Amino acid sequence: MSEETRDMFFEKLMKHVQNYQLGDIVIYLHGGEPLLVTKPYFVNWVEKLLTTVGSLCNVILIAQTNGILLDNEWIEIFHRFNIRLGISLDGPKAFHDTFRVTKNGAGTYDKVMLALKTLRDHPLGAHVFGSILSVANPDIPPEQLWQTWLRTGFKRFDFNLPHCTHDNPPWFTTDQLSPWLIELFELWWTENDPEIDVRFFRNIVHLILGASSSTDYIGGKQVGIVVIETDGSIQGTDALRACKNGLTNVNMNVFTNNIQDAMNIPLVKLSNNGASRLCQKCLVCDVKDVCGGGYVPHRYRERNDFDNPSVYCESLYRITKHIRNKILFEARHIFDKGIGVETL
Ligand code: SF4
Repeated sequence: MSEETRDMFFEKLMKHVQNYQLGDIVIYLHGGEPLLVTKPYFVNWVEKLLTTVGSLCNVILIAQTNGILLDNEWIEIFHRFNIRLGISLDGPKAFHDTFRVTKNGAGTYDKVMLALKTLRDHPLGAHVFGSILSVANPDIPPEQLWQTWLRTGFKRFDFNLPHCTHDNPPWFTTDQLSPWLIELFELWWTENDPEIDVRFFRNIVHLILGASSSTDYIGGKQVGIVVIETDGSIQGTDALRACKNGLTNVNMNVFTNNIQDAMNIPLVKLSNNGASRLCQKCLVCDVKDVCGGGYVPHRYRERNDFDNPSVYCESLYRITKHIRNKILFEARHIFDKGIGVETL
């Protein structure tokens, strides 16, 4: 991002924060790969952000990285600015190395594990670590994914369902994904370690118990997300790119538009208000309040846009029902043992 684009972005962001009197904003630095910039450039960018936008509101910074370039100096920089780090790891070596390779085609699993060790060994690493993020892949035996996660020595994990649509369906069937989700959930549940967090499942538990989701990929949570590209263009959430080539390109940029202009575009409005326009099947679904129709980009079909349930509908239904039954069973068990509500 050029200095000129950066300054204009911060100016528009300040205006947005002032206009809507925002107390907190979250900025995700992701890519591409955010660690590809030089350290002085990065420090300068964040310092400028905090002295401008940060003078008006609390700026929460999160960086998503493949970790390959992570070293002690980066960890100290992230700590200095209170930046949390998400590290991408797509399961055990054989699976990770199929998807995540260097430009020479070599797998990156060993490098990611080395980065996690660097983070683990650094005295500031625990403050900087945010979570490990994987892409759901039913080809990976859940036990292997679980053990890979635990071997990292960290305790916060999450996974995304692949960004597929009804026109571009996932490579696996719902009969593969549903038991995979259930088995992975069971591994987490039976581990019974309150410090271990699998955000996808924790969100479903929270939604079942009437709390809100921390993300927009489940529960139809209302968010205010735009993506600012390095050339200053403003777009809707990048997962929408999986729907159709060029869909997110709304011809707006920080030089000619305000942030709110992009948020007013119907597509961005829809993706930021996941539960606001559900299809008929979702509207009458008995897990609607938990699932919320799933992630908006996963509902897309060229023929009728987003007027569909998620392409993962059946699996979302089955995992939600499974978790709901689990919670009911545990609650009944507690009451059967005669433990008072005040103990709960
Ligand atoms: S489970 Fe399916 S029908 Fe029910 S809300 Fe989710 S996507 Fe819609």
